[in-house]
Amino acid sequence: MPNRPSICIIGAGLTGLVCARSLAQQGFRVQVVEQHSTPGGMLASVRIGHEYIELIPHHLRKSDRNVLSLLKELGLHEDISWYDSFWYGRAGRKKLGYPEKGFHSLISALSQEITDHGGIIYYGYTVMDIDLTLESKRQYHVSCVLSDCTTIVLDSDIVLFTGSCRNLAHITHNLDLPTDFRDPLMDITYKANMSLLLVMKSQFTGCFSRPLGEDFPFQRLIQHTNLVGERRYGGHILYLCGAFQTAHPMWTQSDADVFKAFFKHLQKLNPAIVRSDIKTWRLTRTRYALPTSAPEMPFTEPLPGLFLCSLAMIQDSTESTEYRMDPTIALANDTARMIEDSVSERYLQDTGTVIERIY
Ligand SMILES: Cc1cc2nc3c(=O)[nH]c(=O)nc-3n(C[C@H](O)[C@H](O)[C@H](O)COP(=O)(O)OP(=O)(O)OC[C@H]3O[C@@H](n4cnc5c(N)ncnc54)[C@H](O)[C@@H]3O)c2cc1C
Repeated sequence: MPNRPSICIIGAGLTGLVCARSLAQQGFRVQVVEQHSTPGGMLASVRIGHEYIELIPHHLRKSDRNVLSLLKELGLHEDISWYDSFWYGRAGRKKLGYPEKGFHSLISALSQEITDHGGIIYYGYTVMDIDLTLESKRQYHVSCVLSDCTTIVLDSDIVLFTGSCRNLAHITHNLDLPTDFRDPLMDITYKANMSLLLVMKSQFTGCFSRPLGEDFPFQRLIQHTNLVGERRYGGHILYLCGAFQTAHPMWTQSDADVFKAFFKHLQKLNPAIVRSDIKTWRLTRTRYALPTSAPEMPFTEPLPGLFLCSLAMIQDSTESTEYRMDPTIALANDTARMIEDSVSERYLQDTGTVIERIY
């Protein structure tokens, strides 16, 4: 594409990476900025023993059409094995899928394709402000703060934000967003999530998943190695996951105190368990994990060239208490297509040259 338009994609979670790959393949000059030091967002992994494992438990269903077709495009579909999962208190077993090398392989393959097409992914860049310059060629300025508190400004023709709706409202305060856009954005509410990953010396119980009552701070116990086997993790993988309102006192406690509280409740399920049964643990907090309200109007392009693709925009997301990658990927694919269409309509003349935006 001559005079290729540039796009700055905020967030290297699944949404940001899927959009970035697609747009880089279409000839856009892609820059992805991610506040954390690794890609993946909620699907980020850590190395445990000789394997990668997700910090938050992730598994596939046979009905995950969009995930499976993405894995196929990336040549990873044959790496998926399907296992019978035993759910506590439920008759029957559900088939669940998990990749040979964990979802790390999906995130790495997406990142690799982005860079293979000339895209750049910046880690440790937190976007604090998006502004617009009205010089001859109108461009967005994306201001990022780095870990040493220095600021870097990236310029681009188009911006795509993939984080929470509330965060977008905060970082666009210098832009002239219509109030009927900004106010509803601020009203979208989310539940937070805390997931405790435990590497245990031995199996905790025989089931894969067990829901827990309100007297537990975590609502679900997931024994990953009861599904996929021990692999080379060097222990049994157990997750304890809980959805939280941020007003809950535990949300602001230290990781060590949350671990102690979760462990105390684990002992209620099996009083024989002792601290030394746990080889290592890691707590992951996700502030904007599950949207609990949805925008009532379409929010995709609040200003020409500024796009939003966020979990709260997934249809029916608030009616479900489930977290799924499949609708996330579907929405990311739709958004990437919408950006391509909008760019070809608005920025490119028949000759393919970039024209000035019309406001
Ligand atoms: C507890 C839990 C369990 C789940 N289990 C499953 C499962 O078993 N199967 C399944 O299919 N799905 C599951 N999911 C859902 C899946 O994780 C999500 O659908 C998917 O990861 C969402 O990706 P995303 O890119 O939209 O959001 P995120 O992963 O949140 O990515 C957004 C990214 O943007 C970055 N960002 C935000 N603001 C800024 C900023 N200002 N500057 C720079 N970077 C920024 C964030 O750091 C993050 O990396 C689960 C989710 C949770 C919470």
